[in-house]
Amino acid sequence: MKVEAPMGMGLGVTPDRVEHVAGFGMLGGADAFVFRPTRAEEIAALFNLARDTGRKVCLRGAGRSYGDANYLPESILIDLCRMNRILGWDPETGIFEGEGGVTIEEVWRHTLEDGWWLPVVSGTMFPTLGGALAMNIHGKNNFREGTLGEHVLELDLLSPDGKLRTLTPTDPLFFAAISGAGLLGAIVRVKLQLKKVECGELQVLPVSCANWEEQFAAFEQYESEADYLVSWIDAFGHGKSAGRGLIHAAWYTKAESARMTLRPSHQDLPDTVMGIFPKSAVWRKLRWFNRRFGMRLINAAKSFAGRKVGDGKPYSDTLVGFSFLLDYVPNWRWAYLPDGFIQYQSFVPKEHARYVFGRQLQMQREARLESFLVVMKRHRPDPFLLSHGVDGYSLAMDFKVTQANRERLWDLCHRMNDLVLESKGRFYLAKDSTLRPSDVERYLGAEALASLRSFKSELDPDGVLSSALAERLGLGGKAR
Ligand SMILES: Cc1cc2nc3c(=O)[nH]c(=O)nc-3n(C[C@H](O)[C@H](O)[C@H](O)COP(=O)(O)OP(=O)(O)OC[C@H]3O[C@@H](n4cnc5c(N)ncnc54)[C@H](O)[C@@H]3O)c2cc1C
Repeated sequence: MKVEAPMGMGLGVTPDRVEHVAGFGMLGGADAFVFRPTRAEEIAALFNLARDTGRKVCLRGAGRSYGDANYLPESILIDLCRMNRILGWDPETGIFEGEGGVTIEEVWRHTLEDGWWLPVVSGTMFPTLGGALAMNIHGKNNFREGTLGEHVLELDLLSPDGKLRTLTPTDPLFFAAISGAGLLGAIVRVKLQLKKVECGELQVLPVSCANWEEQFAAFEQYESEADYLVSWIDAFGHGKSAGRGLIHAAWYTKAESARMTLRPSHQDLPDTVMGIFPKSAVWRKLRWFNRRFGMRLINAAKSFAGRKVGDGKPYSDTLVGFSFLLDYVPNWRWAYLPDGFIQYQSFVPKEHARYVFGRQLQMQREARLESFLVVMKRHRPDPFLLSHGVDGYSLAMDFKVTQANRERLWDLCHRMNDLVLESKGRFYLAKDSTLRPSDVERYLGAEALASLRSFKSELDPDGVLSSALAERLGLGGKAR
């Protein structure tokens, strides 16, 4: 179906549209002409405006991708946050329908009381469905439920050619639009199958691991039974303690007062620590520790506490508390100012993960650039075009960026990339800041890239849709 762009909307690339936008890691960013449409017709008009003015278009959801996927200097930036209408909800079947700008938070707040939860969520609830599907997010249950894209029944994609296509899993384009990093069109409507839950709480088992061997043994032990698995790893552990940390396995449960636990008011976490200290002030305190010495202390203390206090003692946590803990520490990322931070996440097949992750942490120690936060997850492959999925594990690592360390950090990441590529591993565009075009060619392969280009020349023949990430990696369209 062709979407008619309304005439005379008064759209123009005028100075009052200019805003500075950046990725979640707050590195760089760009000035762009920002528009926040409320209807698909306006998006079609903006595609026309881009053609008329010789500019590119960049799509943006909630801006929760860490790097440069959600902005492009001097572009027409379409922020989809106002396209957030809920279009349908069936509490009998758990089928949810909403516009592309509906957030994960808006979905669970609408559906949980009826006993339905998103089958896949990221570590934050703020992403929009469109942004989450453009990157095809995974959760702490990736080994069991796959990616969010695997639970989509139908979506509408509006491309720069002005056509609105309804896609289902029978259509090859479905597998490119999901994972396509916003380069083929705007996802304006999504129909999702949610997961039935009887209770709003999970039973969580913390298991302290002294080293890499115990980490991998614990994942293997729990992956056949747990619903969620995630591990925190201390990057400062070395020698016999290399890979030490704390794994959390979690299970859906039934509770006696289950109905009450499904209410949003039960899910919301307190905004104070221990009832006294406001969480909104935590980032200021974190700033004191946000350097090598401070983080070595915090990581060691966390390892010690994991071993001595929590180890093996199950406890209950809400779905929201377990899934989105960081969301309840407002503005924690500001502790990384003034220069911001990157997240580096590589995905490695299971037979090589122990070696690659061990080497990555060793290389960081040698460079005195240890990650301040390291998280390991178990994954499975998926059928999407620009997939990051492997039958293996991922290690996500946050690195503070400073003027002084930037060059050395990028060099370290490039050397870590090489290691991952030699092991037939993969990367994730939502988390990337350091990949080179040759890295992407190697992990995605010539066939996937040819397929992306072929879809792009059909849906976006003028190469209108792009992003700073796409320009950096050579995934955009024609030069304009
Ligand atoms: C604290 C934190 C924890 C995270 N944890 C995880 C995790 O556990 N697992 C995981 O997979 N990810 C995780 N992420 C990453 C995050 O889920 C993804 O980056 C997600 O894509 C962000 O969605 P967004 O709406 O903010 O999109 P943006 O970041 O604004 O955009 C992402 C991409 O989608 C495109 N896009 C945006 N909207 C649309 C649309 N409607 N149609 C088509 N393309 C569009 C943009 O052009 C861009 O390329 C985390 C991020 C943070 C900040």
